[in-house]
Amino acid sequence: MKIVGGKWSNWSGSVSFRPSVVVAPQDEVDLAIAIRKAEGHVRFPGNGHSFSPLNQTDGTLIDLGAFTGLKGFDPERQVATIAGAQPLWGLGSLLHPLGYALKSMGDTDRQTLGGAVATGTHGTGLKNGSFSADVASFRLLTTTGEVLHCSPDENAEIYSAGRLALGLFGVMTEIDMAVRPVYKLQRRYFVRPMSELFRQLDGLVGANRHFEFFWYAHSDMAVCKSLNETEAHAPARHSARTLYARGEIRRPQEYLFAGGAELLRLMPGLTVPAHKLFGALMPRKQKVRWSHEVFPTPRTIKFNAMEYAVAYDKGVAAVQEIVAMIRKKKLATSFPIAFRTVKADDIWLSPFYGRDSATIAVHQYAKVDAKPLFSACEAILKSYGGRPHWGQFHTMTRDEALAHYPKLDDFVALRRKLDPKNKFLNEYLAKYFA
Ligand SMILES: Cc1cc2nc3c(=O)[nH]c(=O)nc-3n(C[C@H](O)[C@H](O)[C@H](O)COP(=O)(O)OP(=O)(O)OC[C@H]3O[C@@H](n4cnc5c(N)ncnc54)[C@H](O)[C@@H]3O)c2cc1C
Repeated sequence: MKIVGGKWSNWSGSVSFRPSVVVAPQDEVDLAIAIRKAEGHVRFPGNGHSFSPLNQTDGTLIDLGAFTGLKGFDPERQVATIAGAQPLWGLGSLLHPLGYALKSMGDTDRQTLGGAVATGTHGTGLKNGSFSADVASFRLLTTTGEVLHCSPDENAEIYSAGRLALGLFGVMTEIDMAVRPVYKLQRRYFVRPMSELFRQLDGLVGANRHFEFFWYAHSDMAVCKSLNETEAHAPARHSARTLYARGEIRRPQEYLFAGGAELLRLMPGLTVPAHKLFGALMPRKQKVRWSHEVFPTPRTIKFNAMEYAVAYDKGVAAVQEIVAMIRKKKLATSFPIAFRTVKADDIWLSPFYGRDSATIAVHQYAKVDAKPLFSACEAILKSYGGRPHWGQFHTMTRDEALAHYPKLDDFVALRRKLDPKNKFLNEYLAKYFA
C-alpha cells in the first residue's frame, strides 16, 4: 500500500485522505489485534482501484500487503485457497503450474483478489459470473477478532452476503476460488457499424465465450472484442514479474491515446472528429495467449469510471439512449462507452442479483471534471432500473438502493450483527449500510 506524505490516494486520484494510523499486520493474530485496538473507523484497501470512497478513513488504515500467496489447492473440488490480498497479476503464475486458472477476469489485473471479490468485479460473457460468484468459501476475520469459515454449509448467510460485502463484514484473509483447468484464449478485435452490431448482438454474445464492445459516442462504428478458447499455439508464459511490469509501462499506442486525451481536454470541440479517428485506431491484432495473460489490458492513462448493470434485454436501448444524449448535448470524453455482459447470481449486494445483465461503463479522463458526463448518463441508467458498480462513481440514494437491491435490509441487519460498533463503516458506506 502506498502512502505518500501521510496521504493515501486511489488509482485515479479522485479519493485521497490522511489516516491517523497505518498498520501492517503480518498474520491473522496481528490483524485481529490491530482491528481490536483501532480507534475511529477502520478500512483495509486492496490496491486502491475503486473510484468510490470505499477506503476512506481518518481513523485506522490497515495494509494487508502480507496476506499474499497460494495457501492450498483441492483438485477434487477444483478450488484454490488464495490469501486475501494476492494481486491478480501474480495469481495466474501461481495457479498455472498446478494446471488451473481462474474462470474469468476483468480488463485489468492490478487489483487484489480481496478487492475484486469485495466489489463484484467482473469481466464479460453471459456464462461468466463476477469474481464474487466464483467464491466457493472464505475465511473471515471479524471486528471482534473471531475467525469464521463461510461456505454454503457453514455460516451460510454470511457466505451468501459476504462474497460482495465491500469490506463491511471483516477481512477475508483467505478466499477459496472455484478454478478450472488451464486454457488458452484467442483474442480478436473487429469493427462493426452500430446498426449491424445491434442486429447481431445476441448472436455475438451467445457465440463467443467473452464478447464486449466499445463505442466512441460520436462515431457510428463499434470496436468489438471477443475471446474464445483455442488449442492453437501460445507463446511461452511470462513470469509474474513481467506481467506486473507490463501493466505499469506505457506502450506507443497508449502515448498516442494519452496525447488525444490531453488534446480533447484542451480543445473539447474536436471530440466529434476525434471519436471517428479513435475508433479507426483501435487495435485489430489477433493473438493467442494463456487466459491470465490475455484477459487484462494495461491501463496506464488515468480515468474515472461509472458503471451500471441493467437487465440484459434492456442493454441496447440504454446504451443507444446514452449515445443519443451525448451527441445532442455535445458532451466531450476521450474514452469509449464499454458494453459487457454478466451472468445472474444470488449474492445479496450484487448488481447482477437475480438477472442476466448488460453493464454499461462511461469513462472520463482523470484531469477532466467527470460530473457533467456522469450525471447525464446516470439519469438514463437509473431510468432503466440500473444498479451501480459499488467500486465506481454513482450518486445512488439510500431509497434507490433499497428499491434496486432487494436484500439490502437483510445485508444491513447482518452487518450490524457482525460489526455492532460500526468500526468498518465510513461516511460513504454509512449512507447505505448504517
Ligand atoms: C483501470 C481499472 C480497471 C478496472 N476494470 C474493472 C473491470 O474490468 N471490471 C470491474 O468490475 N471493475 C473494474 N474496475 C474496478 C475495480 O476492479 C474494483 O473497484 C476493485 O474493487 C478494485 O480492487 P482493489 O484491490 O484495488 O480494491 P480497493 O479498491 O482498494 O478496495 C475495494 C474494497 O475491497 C475491500 N477489500 C479489499 N481487500 C479485502 C479483503 N481481503 N477482505 C474484505 N474486503 C476487502 C476494501 O475494504 C474496499 O472496500 C477497474 C478499476 C480500474 C481503476
